[in-house]
Amino acid sequence: MKLFGHRSSRLLSAAAATRCEACGAPAALHLSVLGRYVHAFGLPLVAVGKTAAGQCLACRREFRAPELPAPLQPTLAALAPRAKEPLWHSAGALLAGLVALGIWGGGVWQHYRSETLLHHPHVGDLYHIRSEAPGYYTLLKVEEVHGNSLRLRQNNYETDIEAELPQLDQPKNYAAEPFDLTQLDLQIMQVQHELVAVERPGKK
Ligand SMILES: [Zn+2]
Repeated sequence: MKLFGHRSSRLLSAAAATRCEACGAPAALHLSVLGRYVHAFGLPLVAVGKTAAGQCLACRREFRAPELPAPLQPTLAALAPRAKEPLWHSAGALLAGLVALGIWGGGVWQHYRSETLLHHPHVGDLYHIRSEAPGYYTLLKVEEVHGNSLRLRQNNYETDIEAELPQLDQPKNYAAEPFDLTQLDLQIMQVQHELVAVERPGKK
């Protein structure tokens, strides 16, 4: 089996009631519309169009469309548009599209959620920020909110895996001295990708 290539499957057939030019069998020709698709390891990836063909039911000889008798060409031409490419011929492309959509949608949702939480800070919010060591993250925790000013406490630990940040959120891990930032400071940090996400523990 070839690992990549084209395959066809029969979408539609019709009896042509025409004599086979190869074996002479009367009314033995059958017309088919085939849907072609690219496959990898036998799995359909994407549909690449339709072809029409004829076959003799008596001698099994196959005829490409141009080889079929001229009187059959209009029948063949009418048959092709009626054949619908099934979705499974493009299963790979559809799957890839869905995965991409899911990743994109998840990213948009995450960004929207962080944006909303950043504009309406609550005590206990956790800001995921990049630490000074490249590739590492740490937390800022909101302790108090006074209008536009936030009192924050920085975590003493860092991790290179952002998803592990919630594990650092233990009271003993935070610096003894809090400090203040304005909401504008935090928004600038977000624009500069120093603040990468906002988490509100207990709220998904
Ligand atoms: Zn034949």
